[in-house]
Amino acid sequence: MLTETLSGKCPCCGYDKLLQRYGSLGYHLLDGCANCGFGYSSNHYDDDDFGVGAWLPYAKHILSCQYIEPETDEFYERSMVELNKLSDEEVRRMVFEWCEKQERADDVDTTIFTYTDEDVEKHKAFGLPVFNGT
Ligand SMILES: [Zn+2]
Repeated sequence: MLTETLSGKCPCCGYDKLLQRYGSLGYHLLDGCANCGFGYSSNHYDDDDFGVGAWLPYAKHILSCQYIEPETDEFYERSMVELNKLSDEEVRRMVFEWCEKQERADDVDTTIFTYTDEDVEKHKAFGLPVFNGT
């Protein structure tokens, strides 16, 4: 089983609406922070990713789903194309604004995966702008 939620707490900036997927091994599980860009995803086997790239594709999927019409995937496909033309920074800003409008779920206290201080420092070294969430 796979659960997708907006909860947790970012180890880098403290933002409490992380994009999170958790559940069965084998799925891509992730933590993603639109506020500072922190992220990590893994399927527990041979595929993992660190940074914005770990969660941005999933976030594009979420944004595109907002535009799906009941009868067609056309709007989904079109919005994916449009999103892929934008910079990561622009998409992250859109995701952040989307997160701000959502209610936080309370099902995860912190993060799906465990992060060390080195992980946090490694992310901060990217120097990505932090939006105004806390
Ligand atoms: Zn963060």
